[in-house]
Amino acid sequence: AKSQQRAGHFYFSRSMGVEIRERVRMMHALRTGFGQNQLFVVYQPQIDLVTRRPVGAEALLRWQTPDGKFISPDRFIPIAEYSGLIIDLGEWVMRTACRELVDLRKAGHHDFMMSINVSQVQFRHPHFLDMLKRALEDTGAPPQNIELEITESMAMEEPDLLIKMLAQIKQTGVSIAIDDFGTGFSSLSYLQRLQVDRLKIDRAFVTEITGSARGSSIAEMVIQLGRNLGLAVIAEGVEDERQAQILQALGCPLAQGFLFARPMNASALSNWLSNDAL
Ligand code: C2E
Ligand code: CA
Ligand code: CA
Ligand code: CA
Repeated sequence: AKSQQRAGHFYFSRSMGVEIRERVRMMHALRTGFGQNQLFVVYQPQIDLVTRRPVGAEALLRWQTPDGKFISPDRFIPIAEYSGLIIDLGEWVMRTACRELVDLRKAGHHDFMMSINVSQVQFRHPHFLDMLKRALEDTGAPPQNIELEITESMAMEEPDLLIKMLAQIKQTGVSIAIDDFGTGFSSLSYLQRLQVDRLKIDRAFVTEITGSARGSSIAEMVIQLGRNLGLAVIAEGVEDERQAQILQALGCPLAQGFLFARPMNASALSNWLSNDAL
């Protein structure tokens, strides 16, 4: 029993060590990579389900290391949050996406919306609001065409702080979407107190709508909730036509997913939008 305990302990600490070392390694690589322009922003179009026309795009961060490998934001965002790099990285994404929006407007896409993901670490930073205002001012991006995506799990913590923050953000003219909606447990009364503009149905519930009837009821509930609260609703991760049709039939106005377009770089987006206009 004693040797087993020791073996167990050894195994535990060694794997922890590997885990931490790997994290620290990635943290340095990310910091260096950010400085060496290995990170870039791609844009995934958002579509009006009725007209099938693009109405906006979500900015998504990409990291390609010098050996050509892509590292998923699901892996490096938590590390950027943990290390604090997310503050600079998030500001850079904000400014990059704002500049891209301004360029698209110059090309004639005037009503185009740009959605930008905001990490909770970024959001809680005391200078977040100043950072946002400066990005808008310096780039000349119109606030009415910018949307910030915050996650539902974030909406759960510190309700009073969040309510205050959202009110201040709304004063800049920027709108707010709750991302991954349906995965948390925000109550209807709480949701009513938050000044949000849009609910984003999580991909998991979109995937489910072509499956069981029980699955479709979650997407349906969010669409209904949006209608009752006067909020726009967008479905993420729409991969096939059947899902798009069911969502449309349920009254979901907007969608995003591989069915319509994959995330693409700025010049590809601009081409895609011009071709689409023909
Ligand atoms: P998210 O905000 O929920 O973004 C949607 C993710 O779904 C993106 O993954 C997108 O590429 C992917 N996606 C879009 N359509 C489809 C589809 O039809 N099928 C499938 N299977 N996937 C689809 P991505 O780009 O890997 O980003 C992962 C997560 O990383 C994002 O999830 C977001 O939480 C985070 N992230 C990405 N960029 C940023 C950023 O600039 N700032 C922050 N704070 N987080 C970011
Ligand atoms: Ca998002
Ligand atoms: Ca999402
Ligand atoms: Ca998601």
